[in-house]
Amino acid sequence: MSETLFSKIIRREIPADIVYEDADVVAFRDINPQAPRHVLFVPRRPVATLNDLGDADATLIGRLVLAATAYAKAEGFAEAGYRCVINCNGDGGQTVYHLHLHLLGGRPMHWPPG
Ligand code: C5P
Repeated sequence: MSETLFSKIIRREIPADIVYEDADVVAFRDINPQAPRHVLFVPRRPVATLNDLGDADATLIGRLVLAATAYAKAEGFAEAGYRCVINCNGDGGQTVYHLHLHLLGGRPMHWPPG
């Protein structure tokens, strides 16, 4: 896959408000937040979409989810609730082709999503 700007954010070549990182995952505030709390959890390894994950990536996708839930707990909005979203390809609304999980919180969410 061709590199996206998320790889540059992970390497700190372009600025972002990074709020969490570990060996596998980097998280930063979304530049165009859709909720009071909107953080993107991104694997360091540049997987393009959900469709590119296989059995060998089970731990990676698990780490992504666990990093997001741990962040919501640590920041105090887990009990109130939150939403995790991974958009996939065009119909899913994906615009950056480096897998990322949106963590949205700080307000009631609506259903169905747009
Ligand atoms: O799921 P999707 O691919 O549409 O999400 C990409 C997200 O990346 C958007 O919410 C956009 O605001 C965010 N973004 C960002 N920083 C950038 C470029 C995009 O947070 N420099």
